[in-house]
Amino acid sequence: MSKTLSTLRSYIEDGFRIHAFHEVTGCNHSEELDLVSLANRLGPDFDLVENHSAFLASLKCSRCAQDPKLNPKGNISIRLSPPTNPGTGKNWDTSKIKGW
Ligand SMILES: [Zn+2]
Repeated sequence: MSKTLSTLRSYIEDGFRIHAFHEVTGCNHSEELDLVSLANRLGPDFDLVENHSAFLASLKCSRCAQDPKLNPKGNISIRLSPPTNPGTGKNWDTSKIKGW
């Protein structure tokens, strides 16, 4: 049985990270989302794929929110980063790498 990777719980358990981008000229603010506090607020079974547009609509750019001339909503996108290697690099024998 394959696991569906779409809920906050699945992203947290698998070590994914999600960044939000405010793709507006003059801003381009990006920030990593705190998945644990999102899971606390929305519930760990919140499905980010199913509720994609509602989720994006709920996001607000924290930088633009401080300036009344700017619109902190809209043009926000999220990007999923795959889990980084949970190891500390100990499995890699770098001593044989030449030319670095
Ligand atoms: Zn912004």
